[in-house]
Amino acid sequence: MIPYGRQNIDEADIAAVVATLRSDFLTQGPAVEQFESAVAMRCNARFAVAVNSATSALWLAYRALGLGPGDRLWTSPNTFVATANAALHLGAEVDFVDIDPDTYNLCPKRLAEKLAVAEAAGRLPKIVTPVHFAGQPCDLPAIAELAVRYGFRVVEDASHAIGASYQGEPVGSCRWSDLTVFSFHPVKIMTTGEGGMVLGRDPALATRLVELRSHGVTRDPQRMQRECEGGWYYEQIDLGWNFRLTDIQAALGTSQLNRLDAFLAQRQELADRYDRELAGLPLMRPGRDPAADSAWHLYVVRLAGDGTIRRQVFNALRQQGIGVNVHYIPVHIQPYYQAMGFTVGAYPEAERYYQQAISLPLFAGLTLEQQNQVIERLQEALS
Ligand SMILES: *Cc1c(COP(=O)(O)O)cnc(C)c1O
Repeated sequence: MIPYGRQNIDEADIAAVVATLRSDFLTQGPAVEQFESAVAMRCNARFAVAVNSATSALWLAYRALGLGPGDRLWTSPNTFVATANAALHLGAEVDFVDIDPDTYNLCPKRLAEKLAVAEAAGRLPKIVTPVHFAGQPCDLPAIAELAVRYGFRVVEDASHAIGASYQGEPVGSCRWSDLTVFSFHPVKIMTTGEGGMVLGRDPALATRLVELRSHGVTRDPQRMQRECEGGWYYEQIDLGWNFRLTDIQAALGTSQLNRLDAFLAQRQELADRYDRELAGLPLMRPGRDPAADSAWHLYVVRLAGDGTIRRQVFNALRQQGIGVNVHYIPVHIQPYYQAMGFTVGAYPEAERYYQQAISLPLFAGLTLEQQNQVIERLQEALS
């Protein structure tokens, strides 16, 4: 089976992990700090806080920005459930903004309309989380303008988009947002096995994130509520979790980061080749925003109709060892969200897109031969 995505591990990655196994630190230590500085530097962020998954990173980002009961968080329905779930875990209300029909990202026009209605009803969101779907950044300047006007915070779910940029600005710099989250799951652009990161600019947020990553505990006398009692002393000043990344994983992360440009170049080349080779077929290729440089996490094509052709093509390709997939089942369609009162039909653009979408194999390490196989099987399935 040619999978839709997979990790790319070389000898340098393996050597980095083995060296850490022989070092003094297994859990969070110097390798985590090194990984954090390297990613922050690469993405032009003031700080980066490494954690054990993007799911944890989303929870931390929302919590550090003060999201809680009585607050609202809005995001795209075209995302993995974690983006919305993290807000539910904090007792906040979740709502969705329909997607743009070309980029499949949260649509700034729909967002502006929904904000005007919410303002009149006194139900504005505290946080809006755009998701850089498939690696292509959202129209962040448009969202940032609305954030100023309506007073909400912006968290970028950039799980697909490390290495991407918008108007030349790297994703993660947080020029148009408060915080940005990356995922280092093996199917993403680069991996630490499991892992995630929160990037930002405001040092006060960095302090909160670091405390919440380790139970809400501080060893900084400046942050303590009582007098420091000695070298052993720490204080729990908030309620957090153990969301730490290990040094073993961070060593892999730093090694993978050294290879990020090569990964991005290969993904770009494969995506361009799909674009050329699929040009004559009855399908819609991914829409490209000229202001965006995508990290090409996914290559999604759309097949016309109500889902019948998509199902046929999906089954035919899977039967022939092509590990196609579908991203995403709209979150509000999930039974858990339906039970909360969301209705089918509420976000028609995301629902129509879902009926028609199919993700083709795309990863660093996919050979041209394998890509030809995908293209030929797809041509056959559509003829
Ligand atoms: C993968 C993914 C997540 C969750 O990432 P984990 O690291 O697996 O927790 C969240 N949001 C999006 C958009 C993702 O693709």
